Amino acid sequence: MRVEVAQYAGVCYGVERALKLAEEAAESGTTVHTLGPLIHNPQAVEALRAKGVEVATCLDEVDAGTLVIRSHGVDPAIIETAREKGLDVVDATCPHVSKAHVAAGELRDAGYTVVIVGEADHPEVEGIMAHAGGQALVVESAEELPERLPSRRVGIVVQTTQSESLLAEVVAALVPRVTELRVYNTICSATAKRQRSAAELAESVDVVVVVGGHNSGNTTRLVEICRESNPRTYHVETADELDSSWFAGASSVGVAAGASTPEQQMRGVIQAIEAME
Ligand code: SF4
Repeated sequence: MRVEVAQYAGVCYGVERALKLAEEAAESGTTVHTLGPLIHNPQAVEALRAKGVEVATCLDEVDAGTLVIRSHGVDPAIIETAREKGLDVVDATCPHVSKAHVAAGELRDAGYTVVIVGEADHPEVEGIMAHAGGQALVVESAEELPERLPSRRVGIVVQTTQSESLLAEVVAALVPRVTELRVYNTICSATAKRQRSAAELAESVDVVVVVGGHNSGNTTRLVEICRESNPRTYHVETADELDSSWFAGASSVGVAAGASTPEQQMRGVIQAIEAME
């Protein structure tokens, strides 16, 4: 079986940076907490815990030491409260997410109705929403746009991990309904590159295995994209989940990985597939 890896696969700049900042904080010897899991990958979170980086589910659980804000970013009020509590805040918000924060704030200040294309309950979207003043509309599809828009001047910001096709769909639905439309394409190029290369790969192989956390939005999106052209697409976190029946009669397997998948995890899956021959 030939194993082909997507041209862009695995951990992205923002996640790598957040992991590095958390590890550096732990090395300084203080108590370190991240607000929520630093990365949507259970194995990587466990490895961090072994290095002294604990996960707090909310600010109330942290009374001292360092608080690391993950790459998804947060409501700025949370950072303010943490500082007021005397915590040392390490802000590992990905610079790409920060751009979405700035765009949402600009649109809000300029009086636009802000539409966030993304998942309402995703922490990144919650952070963008806070920067939009808490008044934005969040849609995951064009159908979710309300029948009556609050105004005919609309500004769009996108959750960094969304697809370009979804953005295009929402833009197309809004154009006939507004007098002014400003679009900030805040989709991160790391995500787009992983999506494009995974889509290309899925068309050229018999079976696709996407590696990454089952709780990772960007990995799940890669699975959906690959499945559109290749129904034999499977999602695994680790090599243990591979099932030899998936590869029956296959001569080529494509491996893609989300932006929160550590290199080591992807390699483990590739080696296990190769060992099945
Ligand atoms: S996917 Fe993009 S926006 Fe998200 S953390 Fe990675 S580099 Fe940053």
